[in-house]
Amino acid sequence: MFAALRCLERGIRPIVLERGKDASARRFDLAPILREGRVIEDSNYCFGEGGAGTFSDGKLYTRATKRGPVASIYEILVAHGAPEKILTDAHPHIGSNLLPNVVKAIRHSVLAAGGEVHFQTKVSDFLIEHGKIHGVVCADGRSFEADSVVLATGHSARDIYQLLQRKNILLEKKAFAVGVRIEHPQALIDQVQYHIPRGEERPRLLPAARYRLATKIDDRGVHSFCMCPGGWIVPAATEDDEVVVNGMSLARRDSPFANSGMVVTVEPEDTESFVKEHGVLSGIAFQKNLEQLAKQAGGGGQKAPGQRVVDFLSGKISCSLPAMSYFPGATSAPLHELMPAFMMKRMRTGLRLFGNQIRGYTGQDGLLLGFETRTSSPVRVPRDETTLQHPQVFRLFPCGEGAGYAGGIVSAAMDGLKIADAL
Ligand SMILES: Cc1cc2nc3c(=O)[nH]c(=O)nc-3n(C[C@H](O)[C@H](O)[C@H](O)COP(=O)(O)OP(=O)(O)OC[C@H]3O[C@@H](n4cnc5c(N)ncnc54)[C@H](O)[C@@H]3O)c2cc1C
Repeated sequence: MFAALRCLERGIRPIVLERGKDASARRFDLAPILREGRVIEDSNYCFGEGGAGTFSDGKLYTRATKRGPVASIYEILVAHGAPEKILTDAHPHIGSNLLPNVVKAIRHSVLAAGGEVHFQTKVSDFLIEHGKIHGVVCADGRSFEADSVVLATGHSARDIYQLLQRKNILLEKKAFAVGVRIEHPQALIDQVQYHIPRGEERPRLLPAARYRLATKIDDRGVHSFCMCPGGWIVPAATEDDEVVVNGMSLARRDSPFANSGMVVTVEPEDTESFVKEHGVLSGIAFQKNLEQLAKQAGGGGQKAPGQRVVDFLSGKISCSLPAMSYFPGATSAPLHELMPAFMMKRMRTGLRLFGNQIRGYTGQDGLLLGFETRTSSPVRVPRDETTLQHPQVFRLFPCGEGAGYAGGIVSAAMDGLKIADAL
């Protein structure tokens, strides 16, 4: 959407093709996944207008300040209805109740300036002749011609990676991270971070406390990811045969829980056992395998496998699970056995270290849910450093998180601007 806005500034008329529904209709499709555990494949937490960002947590803090104009992204968001405080906050946050209206306002700007936006329009093939892309074909049979194609389909669009693979369009493996969601009572995190005596609540003026934890164990990073103070764990699957967890919060961040991804870096060599069958997409097969294991162990619908942190550390199935924010619920399961040993060992060591930094982090109240697999793309769609075009396909511009050039809302938005400038 940011690429579309910048195209219009530059006098280029964009056609935005979106497999999912508009943000309002999409909201209704979150009910079946939350309440019945039924995934609507093209309309969910990842797919639909605004992409994964629309019902995300909306944390806008980024360390990718060298990649582009962070402040101008905040300004564009404010111009489309985001709260002005994101311009000055050290850790700006919008919240998933406010984001959909911002996304809709961006769409209205695109339409008002002459762009096109087509919903429920899933790209299923590329029109390529003599090494140049000149359009796309959609699942409903329509085709769209264009001078250039910006491929910004996100890291959950596995059908697009498969399409690229089938067409022998060069893809590269890259490192990514997978793990679990970890959740605690927000009061526990507040007490440690704000030094509040046990049993007392944080003063009303203070926001729900956050944390960031990171270490390196045997050459692999172990770190917290997308921490959501006062948030909710949500089901982020895009197909019915998988369970994927992620986190979000509302603008007021007032749920009684604090959740975060707790992930381990996965290098291409860790996915070797999937190479024979899946080639360059071995990392995606690795993710999918964990997601299917979570589905089986979760016990139906979008129920997730869960384990108390203490039991994960000592290798026991939990007799009971603590209260949690995850609406579909969870089933007690041996996460330490479900995840590959290289991950489990590093995560255990990491958690023990983090338990020394945040008292109570590894105690009875800590809960792990499996699996957090959609943190970053296991695949890069290569592009030339200067022209930003794919090295084999003239006028194909890989963009954003799915192509491996962003990790989060702001860096994906900046990449969109950069690509539009290169068109
Ligand atoms: C629950 C949740 C919470 C998150 N919280 C945060 C956060 O607090 N802060 C943060 O920075 N990031 C967060 N993220 C991650 C963030 O949303 C992504 O990093 C970001 O959205 C990536 O942007 P993108 O445009 O590259 O890809 P996406 O947002 O994935 O967008 C890709 C778009 O392409 C569409 N598409 C896919 N395939 C096709 C096709 N074949 N045809 C047509 N359209 C297609 C999809 O429907 C989607 O709209 C969160 C994600 C989730 C799921």
